[in-house]
Amino acid sequence: MKKGKKLYEGKAKIIYTTNDKNLVIQYFKDDATAFNNQKKSTIEGKGVLNNRISEHILSNLSQIGIKNHLLKRLNMREQVIKLVEIIPIEFIVRNVATGSITKRLGIEDGTVLKEPLIEYCLKSDKLGDPLIAEEHILAFDWATKKEIEKVKKMILRINDFMIGMFRGVGIKLIDFKLEFGRLKVNGKEEVILADEISPDTCRLWDSITDKKLDKDRFRKNLGDLIPAYTEVAKRLGILHEQSNVSAVNVTKLSSVKRKRK
Ligand code: UDP
Repeated sequence: MKKGKKLYEGKAKIIYTTNDKNLVIQYFKDDATAFNNQKKSTIEGKGVLNNRISEHILSNLSQIGIKNHLLKRLNMREQVIKLVEIIPIEFIVRNVATGSITKRLGIEDGTVLKEPLIEYCLKSDKLGDPLIAEEHILAFDWATKKEIEKVKKMILRINDFMIGMFRGVGIKLIDFKLEFGRLKVNGKEEVILADEISPDTCRLWDSITDKKLDKDRFRKNLGDLIPAYTEVAKRLGILHEQSNVSAVNVTKLSSVKRKRK
């Protein structure tokens, strides 16, 4: 597979073309942003961990029949994915109220929701990803009714699976963000899961202590983001070493592991 030119650069990832027009390379950067790009930093090793964690979750989802864009991880920072037309909606899934919803609606932080709540935000940095209703999606043709129904079904299965997967390793899945894309298969258009699922896009709290193991460590200046993401990776069985892993160690360790294969 030959890597071609840069197709798109987002806040945390870069997409490159390949010699196959249906496939692209997704590169995970170390850049972290929050509050609609107002807070920015580079956290060495973050991209490596997100690449591994997202690969793990998406390949597990694939095994339970959730079609997604991941073909394979190429190396520490890159994966080969199917080129899709991204639906311009961020699907936010909440099991526990925290973050923006608590401020917007005056809900107490940590309120456990009776049912998972799906919210829709328009993907627009310029507008600050505004919250929208399903009616807006239909009114402005951002997706069809059929696509939304399909996506909602997939979301509930993804949520069930991920709650169980994280519960098994002592982590509560509080909320997360998903993106979906359209793909032509044998002339028929399909909607599949796209983007990434990682501690950058999920809120993950330790089951016993409620310690935050996700991007809130950056948003709220809690520090120790790499140790937290490493902890998630270790618990999921992706990293096995005992030591307290620094970003540099993560990189070293993984390249050693790769060479041994
Ligand atoms: N999220 C994301 N990207 C975004 C917005 C939200 O990955 O552009 C994730 C976020 O990490 C959290 C969930 O979606 O797990 C809900 O985020 P919320 O709406 O509470 O946003 P915030 O509090 O960050 O403004």
